[in-house]
Amino acid sequence: MDTRTSPFRARIAQLREVLAKEGIDALLVPSADPHLSEYLPGRWQGREWLSGFTGSAGTLVVGQRAAALFADSRYWQQAEAELQGSGIELVRIASAAAPAHIEWMIDNVPRGGTVAVDGQVLGLAAAQQLQARLTTAGIALATERDPLDAIWPARPSLPTAPVVAHNPPHAPRSRAEKLALVRAAMATHGATHHFVSTVDDIAWITNLRGSDVEYNPVFMAHLLLQHSADAAPGACNARLFTGAGKVDAALAAALAADGVELRPYEEAGAALAALGERDTLLIDPKRVTFGFRQRVGAACKVVEAINPSTLAKSRKTDAEAAHVREAMIEDGAAMCEFYAWMEEALAPSRPHGVVTELTIDEKLSASRARRAGFVGSSFSTIAAFNANGAMPHYRATPSSHAVIEGDGLLLIDSGGQYLGGTTDITRVWQVGTASAAMKRDFTLVLKGTMALSRTRFPRGTLSPMIDAIARAPLWAEGLDFGHGTGHGVGYFLNVHEGPQSISRTIPDANMAMEPGMITSIEPGVYRPGQWGVRIENLVLNVPLQTSEGSTFGEFLAFETLTLCPIDTRCIDRSLMRADEMAWLNAYHATVRERIAPRVSGAARAWLVARTAPI
Ligand code: ZN
Ligand code: ZN
Repeated sequence: MDTRTSPFRARIAQLREVLAKEGIDALLVPSADPHLSEYLPGRWQGREWLSGFTGSAGTLVVGQRAAALFADSRYWQQAEAELQGSGIELVRIASAAAPAHIEWMIDNVPRGGTVAVDGQVLGLAAAQQLQARLTTAGIALATERDPLDAIWPARPSLPTAPVVAHNPPHAPRSRAEKLALVRAAMATHGATHHFVSTVDDIAWITNLRGSDVEYNPVFMAHLLLQHSADAAPGACNARLFTGAGKVDAALAAALAADGVELRPYEEAGAALAALGERDTLLIDPKRVTFGFRQRVGAACKVVEAINPSTLAKSRKTDAEAAHVREAMIEDGAAMCEFYAWMEEALAPSRPHGVVTELTIDEKLSASRARRAGFVGSSFSTIAAFNANGAMPHYRATPSSHAVIEGDGLLLIDSGGQYLGGTTDITRVWQVGTASAAMKRDFTLVLKGTMALSRTRFPRGTLSPMIDAIARAPLWAEGLDFGHGTGHGVGYFLNVHEGPQSISRTIPDANMAMEPGMITSIEPGVYRPGQWGVRIENLVLNVPLQTSEGSTFGEFLAFETLTLCPIDTRCIDRSLMRADEMAWLNAYHATVRERIAPRVSGAARAWLVARTAPI
């Protein structure tokens, strides 16, 4: 790109003029929205609009003389290409949580200077960290303005997609039951009010779903709950702040019957400002922005704790787990139909013509779309052949993708949203022949997936503590991987949810493993420029009867939920123990038994062949 004509260079220059006028030395532009969501509506993609960097995570800082984008290793290659000609420097950071951008601002802003950030999109916990560090350096923090408004003429407005009810049988717990559950938790904190901004929490509490962002079936809203004892008889004691026209009259009436009143999206801040000395507000500092915290009435007492709904929605009920098992059968059947097609398409004669990474995505999505209860993809499919598989967050595009030809490994990570659950699965397939080195990596990763899947652990174990179990077979050979081993998964909600996380994160008490939680297990090995292997299943925490009885407390085990063959052609049998062979054969027997009744013809033949015992 010609540096003089880069639109991003022009936007940065325009922004600097606005900043200079307002006496701001640097502007921090996080990748965030007022709900601290993973996927941002266009209105809050200011970091991308200013810099041209399209990655899902990354922080931009624009100073008067220099500008820098902070991104972790997943995005280095992409950021380097996209920032060309923008005048923005790429700063390579170890992890998304690293505070390198704060140190950069301290180096680039004089003592007595001012850093600005839109407080509406800055998490409360992140703001507290930022403010503390800047204060030490003698730098002021301004959070009242959003300077992008002045220079972004075609800034997208709020999404207007309709809100729909998530009904029984797929929503086994009623809205009233969930409201009561959250209010009971509020009472333990002595809270009269509770403000929720995270859209998956709101969707869960209200049994509502939407389509305001890609992949997550959520809608833009804030929720202010009042403890029912404080409400006048017959009054609404919950206010749902969402865009006009998103909820139809029938649904609005159903919500009103449960005490939920609809209010304009813009009024959430004013409702917080109206809280007074008789009120105690419960908020989650990791899930509410600094901007909203600032709006809370000065006399109102504030209690900070994790959203009760975040904990509650992580623990699926038995009825929900039963729906997830059903969704897994449908998802597995979709996989079988797709993989049967893929193997035929990749036969040496190429009966369906050239197959690319994009064809894989298209055919796999079409196969899922035919299954009962399917709503949409749960994230954008990663179909990555050979060297592309070495990039954990690779995405094929029309202008840059590989043709599947010759020999190697094809990694496919994909998932679906079903009315009765959310899926996320990674498999790696041999194309042509796989080398001995590829098979070794594949087998070591599989051993990691199996080792953790078979782990038994005391209830309440902090989830980060079991991360090393999936890595141990890799560590033994001097191998490792740069991402977490597993994330929580929602119930027809976000494919990434907390609070549990099987990763190298420093644990906190909210990350304890409890019955009903669904988590992914997805270790990998990535060889830059060559290939990547990742094998991912979702697992459910189930109570376990131990032979020791209750002497050592309650134990949990994992039930593997994902049902899809694992490519046994890629296994180096010399690395497998007898008990590992037995686990894999038993898993394949389960996959065959549950999926066979739902597939026929080529898909069924493929299922039988790929689940044959080894
Ligand atoms: Zn995945
Ligand atoms: Zn995953």
